[in-house]
Amino acid sequence: NRAGNIFSAGGAFPSIQRSFSSSSDLITATLFPGDGIGPEIAESVKQVFRIAEVPIQWEEHFVGTEVDPRTQSFLTWESLESVRRNKIGLKGPMATPIGKGHRSLNLTLRKELNLYANVRPCYSLPGYKTRYDDVDLVTIRENTEGEYSGLEHQVVRGVVESIKIITRQASLRVAEYAFHYAKAHGRERVSAIHKANIMQKTDGLFLKCCREVAEKYPEIKYEEVVIDNCCMMLVKNPALFDVLVMPNLYGDIISDLCAGLIGGLGLTPSCNIGEGGVALAEAVHGSAPDIAGKNKANPTALLLSSVSMLRHLELHDKADRIQNAILDTIAEGKYRTADLGGSSSTSDFTKAICDHL
Ligand code: NAD
Repeated sequence: NRAGNIFSAGGAFPSIQRSFSSSSDLITATLFPGDGIGPEIAESVKQVFRIAEVPIQWEEHFVGTEVDPRTQSFLTWESLESVRRNKIGLKGPMATPIGKGHRSLNLTLRKELNLYANVRPCYSLPGYKTRYDDVDLVTIRENTEGEYSGLEHQVVRGVVESIKIITRQASLRVAEYAFHYAKAHGRERVSAIHKANIMQKTDGLFLKCCREVAEKYPEIKYEEVVIDNCCMMLVKNPALFDVLVMPNLYGDIISDLCAGLIGGLGLTPSCNIGEGGVALAEAVHGSAPDIAGKNKANPTALLLSSVSMLRHLELHDKADRIQNAILDTIAEGKYRTADLGGSSSTSDFTKAICDHL
């Protein structure tokens, strides 16, 4: 069922219920087009939503390190408030300069908005051939701590230290989300991915919390897989996995590996889930500076992320329509972007999707 709710990032926790007083009621959602290819692929989403008559009005905020070279890295109070108020949003990629002491805007957003779980579904696209045709898994990444706590310093000259934080509270919360998600989506198994043989204290605590939550869900199978072995198994036979839950850094890496199994970063969506029903959808990929501004980016990942946003809002008819149009366009094969071996521009591919709506 291609129109199924695989991209529903909500499900486990109550989605945002809205009552419509008339058919003209619009839902306000925050949009951060972001850096690099962000504005181009955000434009695709806006276009598809317009044609599909999705009842959403965008509240756009230009947050990114490159959107205004004079100010660099800005995340205004208004932009955070916009997500808090609307409880729903879509974000494009935001660049983080390497080694410049620059705090990532992505990290700041996740921390400030307490977006504790990042849900990354990944499945083989019908009609787009890769080495596998049976990938169907969901990575659930702890999103607020681990190696991404931003605690780094120089101890003495030539020695630096990065602190990995794992807390019982955040581990229980993401494990709970993973099991709820598995149950709500009829999935059979949750695999906790770790390196507790080496990171005895931190990953040890993470596993302990997963085990505790697993006991509350006897109907869901639970297993623990060491991350290096997990990588090997994923590359050999991805069908072995169902729902995977893991600390922050592992989730970042494993989900890119998973994207590679189905055709690349242009295809994989995600949704950040926060306390109080906040959902901020975004693609797994970054700002792709190598193709930015060239009308070459594949907007699929951001479009599928926007579909997860619609499912969170319980707008399933619109979500099905857009999801099917995207998948049909890719399956048909006439219009594909360069990352999928085609020669279509972002705008031609977007137009093809609109024609399939
Ligand atoms: P990237 O994901 O931007 O790009 C990796 C490769 O995949 C590139 O060759 C790129 O062209 C390709 N690619 C990515 N998305 C694509 C798409 N939609 N269509 C076609 N090809 C696509 O990773 P990177 O180059 O390591 O990072 C670039 C910047 O993005 C960095 O500053 C990094 O910090 C940032 N980043 C942001 C996020 C985020 O906002 N969530 C995630 C990852 C990286």
